[in-house]
Order: sequence, then structure tokens, then C-alpha cells
Amino acid sequence: MTSALDRFLHTDRLPHIWCAGCGAGMVTGAFLRAAAKLDLHKDTTAIIGGIGCSSRAAGYLDFGTVHAIHGRALAFATGIKMARPDFTVIVFTGDGDGAAIGGNHLIHACRRNIDITCILFNNSIYGMTGGQASPMSQEDDVSVTAPYGQAERSFDLCRLTEAAGATYVARGTAYAGRELERLIRDGVRHKGFSFIEAVSQCPTEYGKRNPPKGAIAMLEDQRDRSVSAKEAAGMTPEELEGKLITGLIYKDESAPEFQESYQRMVERVQQDFDGTS
Ligand code: SF4
Repeated sequence: MTSALDRFLHTDRLPHIWCAGCGAGMVTGAFLRAAAKLDLHKDTTAIIGGIGCSSRAAGYLDFGTVHAIHGRALAFATGIKMARPDFTVIVFTGDGDGAAIGGNHLIHACRRNIDITCILFNNSIYGMTGGQASPMSQEDDVSVTAPYGQAERSFDLCRLTEAAGATYVARGTAYAGRELERLIRDGVRHKGFSFIEAVSQCPTEYGKRNPPKGAIAMLEDQRDRSVSAKEAAGMTPEELEGKLITGLIYKDESAPEFQESYQRMVERVQQDFDGTS
């Protein structure tokens, strides 16, 4: 029997570039299992990666793929989805690519509620470029650009994307691979903009300067800090300090999806030109 890995991976491009213990492969594995369950078609699925360790995943996947320029994966994805509404369009991005340089694209994709799934690998650092602080570095995290600790607060990306208009918002972790697979699967099925934050460990660039040390300890930390969205609803802000709220956080199936709104606008223009309005 062909496994999900064989079916959707460019095995000829292996070995991959990720460090031992990196969460990027675990998140990609969750996606591959979700893709198999969804029975995604290679010719009608577009995967767009930005720049960074996580975005490199697109290069290993056997779909129609684009390795886009830094921060612009969602812009490429929007163009593809508008040109081919029948395609399943999925973006792979990281916290540097997607929440810093690409942050503006992220909030506007949410606002439009375009039918794209965005999987953002959050490892709290720029890994590929040598360990600079990202908007997801926590206060006091040490990085090459914050050697005395990060002085800025980080985003809560799930709250940000929900407030910006995303209609499916979820958070999973590399540790809880089965839950992440389910969240990705449901996000791809959702009609509208789906945002899935996948908390992932970077034992190399983040882990060499910040506790906990090593991939296993980082995975255990994800496990220990996770609180389901259901549990979190009954907890105080103080009790939630430092926790990762996981699972489905927000879903709205009634908001208008962008292509449908756009198509209605096109029809109005056509009626105007035809003199039928
Ligand atoms: Fe993974 Fe960090 Fe290595 Fe990049 S630098 S591959 S994020 S462990």
C-alpha cells in the first residue's frame, strides 16, 4: 500500500534540509496525513511557500507548488485562487515570513475571507537566517537581534486573525500531531480563510539561546503548556498566562467568501455593460 508520505512527497528531493529534532518535518507530516484523508488531487492543489525553514516544505511536496518571495506567499496564493477557484490552495509560512514581512498580507487575506488555508509554523525565531527575533519571539527571549532579551510583546496570532476576519482559526502543536492533522484537514474543508498556527520547535537557532534545551524538552514544553480551547474558556487570564490555547478557536460559516462576493460584483459590471441593470 502506498503511504501518504510516498504519495505526496518528492522523495527524490530528500534528504531534507531541516536540522535533527526540528518541528518542521512533524508539521509537514501532519499535513501529509491530512492530505491523504482529504484525498487531495495533485493537479488541482496548489501549495505556496514563502521563505524560511518552514516554507521550504513546499519544495518537498508533489503538488503544484510555488516557492514564493519573502512574505508574499499569500499574495501569490490569492492570485492563484482568483485565477483557478476550483483549486485547493494552501500556504506554508513561518512566523518571520507570515507575521513580520508578510503580516499585512495575512490580515488582508483574513479580511477578504478568501478560500485559502494558511498553515503558519510558529517557532518563535527566524531559523533559516541565523536566529533573529520574530514577532512571535516572547518577551525576554534571546536572539541574535535581541542579545539581552526581547523587549517587545509577541502577537497572539489566533486572536489577530480572528479579529481580522478569518473564519476558521485553530492552533495545534508539533507534539500533538494527530490533533494538528485534524485541524489542518478541517481547515482545508472549510470554505473561507482558514488559519492554523502550528507551534513548532527550533532546537538549533531558538534552542541554543533559550530554555528548554533540546528537541525532546521543547516538545514536552508544548505538551505541558497546551490547554484545549474548551478548558481555556473556564480559566482566568492569570491561569492562562504562558499557556498555548489549542484546538479549534473560532469558526464562522456564514460570512461571505471573497470569490463569491467578487463574482457578484463581476455580474453587476456585466449587467451595466449589457444595459440590463
Ligand atoms: Fe528547524 Fe531551526 Fe534548523 Fe530551521 S534552524 S531547520 S527551524 S531547527
